[in-house]
Amino acid sequence: MNKFVYCDKCGHNFDISLSEIHKGDIIVQYLECPACKAKYHVCTTDTEMRRLIKKRLTILDKIAESREKVVPAGTSQKLQNELKKILTLQKKLNSRLKKCGEEILNSPDMT
Ligand SMILES: [Zn+2]
Repeated sequence: MNKFVYCDKCGHNFDISLSEIHKGDIIVQYLECPACKAKYHVCTTDTEMRRLIKKRLTILDKIAESREKVVPAGTSQKLQNELKKILTLQKKLNSRLKKCGEEILNSPDMT
């Protein structure tokens, strides 16, 4: 099933397929309108953010696992706390990375 979006600037419908720019350890994911080349920022990550994403997935796995077997009573609470901590860190990082990603997207020297 294909997902389509339409371009805010020219109204053209296009496929959601992400493009990426790598700059140092930063990866910017974005959508580009094939008709007018407008760029839409989707997500920007750096090493730290990617580490947090991985960690979060590991914890989510552990949470799923802990529901299926007998674990020490405090485990679930501990995992939830850790998850909350990661989400807070990601939120903080994200606002900075988003700004950075948009700057990279809008910079004229982008190829
Ligand atoms: Zn467009």
